[in-house]
Amino acid sequence: MAMEIQAGCDQCSPNPEFVSPDGYDLCVHCGAKTPYKTETHIDARIGYVEGVGQTCPNGCKTKEEGHY
Ligand SMILES: [Zn+2]
Repeated sequence: MAMEIQAGCDQCSPNPEFVSPDGYDLCVHCGAKTPYKTETHIDARIGYVEGVGQTCPNGCKTKEEGHY
């Protein structure tokens, strides 16, 4: 991997497909931007699922809720 990612290691580096252009993680479920930047440690996050990725800290705004 030749990509420059600010996070420390392979295991904690974010999936580039789930990062917004300005550096925020996107929810792996609905694709919404989360309040967390890619360099935010996962221990400091709400809604991060280990092995899956960041999800919306307050729950996904799904189609049912009319926000998606
Ligand atoms: Zn979501």
